Amino acid sequence: MKIICIGRNYSEHIKELNNKQTEYPVFFLKPDTALIQKHMPFFIPPFSKLIHYEVEIVLKICKVGKHIQTKFAHTYYDSIGLGIDFTARDIQNQCKKLGLPWEAAKAFDFSAPVSQFFLKSKFQDINSLSFSLKKNDEIVQNGNTSEMIFSFDEIIAHVSKYITLKTGDYIFTGTPSGVGQVLPNDILTGFIEDKQVLQVKIK
Ligand code: MG
Repeated sequence: MKIICIGRNYSEHIKELNNKQTEYPVFFLKPDTALIQKHMPFFIPPFSKLIHYEVEIVLKICKVGKHIQTKFAHTYYDSIGLGIDFTARDIQNQCKKLGLPWEAAKAFDFSAPVSQFFLKSKFQDINSLSFSLKKNDEIVQNGNTSEMIFSFDEIIAHVSKYITLKTGDYIFTGTPSGVGQVLPNDILTGFIEDKQVLQVKIK
């Protein structure tokens, strides 16, 4: 399986990192080695001094598709979960400055903890869904999918022009504002609506 991640999909987050909004969804990939086993902690890797959390709604692809039209895109994912796109921000900033790819900053081992998945039919409207992240006792990110620049269906239509989507692939759909650093002993807790779905200890 593969993990496709969308960048710059919430305007307040674009502003906080001084990025520019793009005409099409920005995407990059993480390998399956970025997944983290349930209940395992996240170990801060030795190559970065600035690891950021980014909480995101994750789609799970349920059938193979290529060149998917926006109007049919909703039939290609049947469940959603919550994930954290861990980012070595110091390395990403260097890559950006030099115009280089982001993989070292984004695709490293265990950079993608993901919750269990829930059938989208369980939610009233997944295009108006709140989600949040707590760092220790403080809510640090608060998002709603209605604030996305590119909808889930537009993301799938765009990405599938370039890459065949396969059953079991994940798509991280972008992070709202409030990203920040994690340090050893922090605990991140993620919520979809009011339900706690994910917890990651930082080591
Ligand atoms: Mg992200």
